[in-house]
Parts: sequence; C-alpha cells; structure tokens
Amino acid sequence: MQKCGLIAAILLTCVYLVACNYKVDRPANQGKQDSGDIGMTITPTPEPATTILPTITEEPEDTITPTPEGDIMEAIGEDISKEFYYEELSDEIKDRIQGKSYKDNCEVPYEELRYVRVLYVGFDGESHRGELIVNKAIAKDIIEIFRELYDEKYPIERMVLVDEYDADDNTSMTADNTSSFNYRKVDGTDHLSLHSYGLAIDINPMYNPYVRTVDGKKVITPENGSSYADRSLACEYYIDKEDACYKAFTEHGFTWGGAWVNSKDYQHFQKKMD
Ligand SMILES: [Zn+2]
Repeated sequence: MQKCGLIAAILLTCVYLVACNYKVDRPANQGKQDSGDIGMTITPTPEPATTILPTITEEPEDTITPTPEGDIMEAIGEDISKEFYYEELSDEIKDRIQGKSYKDNCEVPYEELRYVRVLYVGFDGESHRGELIVNKAIAKDIIEIFRELYDEKYPIERMVLVDEYDADDNTSMTADNTSSFNYRKVDGTDHLSLHSYGLAIDINPMYNPYVRTVDGKKVITPENGSSYADRSLACEYYIDKEDACYKAFTEHGFTWGGAWVNSKDYQHFQKKMD
C-alpha cells in the first residue's frame, strides 16, 4: 500500500508539474499564438530587408571601386545593355561636381552634360561599372564605344569621376583613371581644354601619358607614367593605331592625341563639334 501511495504521490507530482508548465507556458504562448506563428514567418522577412537595404544603398559606391565580376554579373543577369546608358545630371551628381570639375566660373550649362554609366573589363579581367560625364553631343558615341570595348574585353584600370580626385587632373592620371569632363585649361596654356566641354576623354592615362616639350625639356604627365613615354615597349595597355580603343574612337569621328605632331597625348581622344 505504501508503494502504491508513493507511486500515487509521484504521479500526482508529475501531473502537477506538467500542469504548472502548461500554465506557465500556455499564457506566454497563447498571447503570441497567432502573432507568434506569424512572427515566425514574418521575422525572416524584415531580416533580409534590413540586410539587403544597406547593400542596395551602398552598391553604387561599391561598383565604382573594383568589384568581382561574379557579384556584378550575378546582379546584372543576362541583359547587360541596360548597364550602358546616359542621363541628365541629377541633383546628386551636380552636388558631387559643383566646385570641383564643375568650377564656379564654368560656362558650360548643366543641360549640355550627360552622366554616363558603362561596364568595362578591368585589369583583373573582371567586369566593373564605370562612370563618366561627357557632352550630350557625344553621349551616344561614348555608350557605343564602351559597349564595343567591353565586348572586346578591352582592359581599363579605373573609371570614376575626376571629382573623386578633387578634379585634380594630375592625381586622377596618376591613379590611371579614365575620365572626361573637367572644366580646366590645357596644362601650361591659357585656353580651355575640350575636357571643359566634355568633348575629350582620357583612357588609361598612366600607361598613355601626355608627352610634350617645355623650354626645350621633355615633360611627361603623369610623372609615374614617365617610363611609358617610350612607346617601343611591349605593353598591353598602350594605345596605338592597331589598338581596339583607337579603332572604336576614330570610327566614331574622334581624333587621337597620340597622332599630334608637336606633342603626344596618348591617352586623349576628342571630338570637335561645330
Ligand atoms: Zn585629355
């Protein structure tokens, strides 16, 4: 009998404990029962949203600096043509260039300029997004040219607005940055460069320096491109008349600075408009 009593007591204790647990758990669960279940399905939704949102916000910046092709190409998908476009300057772009490449005395109205986005193949062989500001008169040419160069996997080291270098042409060239619009005079002269109108573009400027003679002395800019003034070197980044870049630009009516007589601007293509 005693055993039975003990077993009964144990059983009762178990029942009591289960009941207690039930009571403790129940209200907690019950309160959240509906929302709890939904919460389980909802919770994952806001989570990716909070992780995705910053990624999307930061993407334009990420893409300016070299990004692995895998990331970019995955995001782009099959239709890469939408990655080649131009548009009027947004307020955001105007803020970026005002007082830098778009100097306070700039006589070229914003309406004359276009912000261009393209894909290019970097020196790492991967795809990258590049940006330029050019004159609206050549915006379509630029899109077509860079699409051709991309398809041919023409290597370009970097392509961000010169404003990322405080619109300092020399710093931008030193970084081997491909760029176009910059309201400035031709180095060492008093007249405006065609870059001031977004009608000239410099490609891989460190490997394709500007070589001229000043007071009988050879001057090469950028300085870190000095050894590339020797065009007899075998360098895959050199622009010459056999180069795909030279062909693409000249076919679109541009002239090349490497063909100038008194100086050589190997990085430079320009299109004079009436
Ligand atoms: Zn130039």
